Amino acid sequence: MSRRGESIRAVKGTRDLLPAEAALWQRVEAEARRIFLAYNFREIRTPVLEQTALFARSVGADTDIVTKEMYTFHDRDDESLTLRPEATASVVRAYIEHALYNEGGIHKLYYIGPMFRRERPQKGRYRQFYQIGAEVLGSDHPSIDAEFLEMLVLFLRRLGLQEFALLLNSVGCANCRAEYVKTLRRALERLKASLCVDCQRRSETNPLRVLDCKVEADQPVIEKLPHILEHLCPECRQHFERVTGELDQRGVAYQITPRLVRGLDYYTRTTFEMTSSVLGAQNAFLGGGRYDGLAEMLGGPRTPGFGVAIGQDRLMLAVEQAGQLKAGDRLSAYVAWMGEAALSPATRLVQELRGEDVSAEISYEPIKLKKSLGVANRLGARFAIIVGEGELAAGRYQVKDMTTGQQEEVEPGRIVSYLREKLASSG
Ligand code: AMP
Repeated sequence: MSRRGESIRAVKGTRDLLPAEAALWQRVEAEARRIFLAYNFREIRTPVLEQTALFARSVGADTDIVTKEMYTFHDRDDESLTLRPEATASVVRAYIEHALYNEGGIHKLYYIGPMFRRERPQKGRYRQFYQIGAEVLGSDHPSIDAEFLEMLVLFLRRLGLQEFALLLNSVGCANCRAEYVKTLRRALERLKASLCVDCQRRSETNPLRVLDCKVEADQPVIEKLPHILEHLCPECRQHFERVTGELDQRGVAYQITPRLVRGLDYYTRTTFEMTSSVLGAQNAFLGGGRYDGLAEMLGGPRTPGFGVAIGQDRLMLAVEQAGQLKAGDRLSAYVAWMGEAALSPATRLVQELRGEDVSAEISYEPIKLKKSLGVANRLGARFAIIVGEGELAAGRYQVKDMTTGQQEEVEPGRIVSYLREKLASSG
């Protein structure tokens, strides 16, 4: 006798999305694909595994992601590989590797998929999480930023979300940010003794990140630090003014948030985040911005870029909370047969329905009508089609609407069109 082992569970910080949950995820992804199509974005699928150097160079060697959170391992040939912690770097790598810039013009790309970061798991924070992201490569025009944010707001509205805020900032360019960082460093020299240990370290290594600190006691001190918006060069200031001006024109509401610098090194100019009051501690459910220097950092030609990463796990929490978006009906028809003679016509009917894209289910075990209707209910079927001896003799099957309880007799040959019509009119 073999001894039963201990049951194996999902890895900490990862989880299974069971069918009941996955249905709503699919619905959200379908809405994402729909809006991306409307704004002329095309899908790109990049590998989950990348060379470690890709993230060290783009996300930044001194970021939490790269220093603490990446799943990195040495492959059998000793190459250092990493499970992608985000996908912008991969998209830009692919853009360069396949020389998409040779096609000229602007590239609008989107992706949907899992990302990996070894963070402390909590509600809305996982080690395998999912992002829906989009990138525009090849233009630094402020209208690109505004149009993109307009698209995000429309997407969220379509998902039934109301309670969200768009936080907006500019982090300037390599030139003005360097000047600002010097000013910030000077201010921090005076103030850092009253900040947390992490911030004292950040004051030396990466002062911008002090602005990201969430420690309560640090907040009054951070409030006193100089704002980057007051240190933008004329070109960056004008860019930001054009972005906000266009957002006003497009009717997109935003809150200017000078402390929003975002965690990754590659951002330039516009940065943004959206938060939702329904999400609790992990309230940022998407973030992004402009990254005009990233392609060059990765060895490509200068290619300005703008993008977003939507945290799908958190987005789903907000969507569930809003309760507006519903996963579609699970099943259109359940065919209940009674008596051996009914099995074969019932099987033919299910085959026909499925061939016509009307989702259908049947049980091959003989079960009584009452129990069959119970199964139809449990499966969430919109209609139950009853095929018994009486129905076979009459040449008409009973079609029961499981929501209203109404029942009609329909000839077998007309059932597909009958269901189609009913399903279409009930949306
Ligand atoms: P980032 O790539 O860090 O800018 O993150 C973009 C979005 O991804 C965030 O706003 C979150 O919604 C989501 N996100 C980041 N890390 C995690 C995580 N560990 N678990 C769940 N969602 C995350």
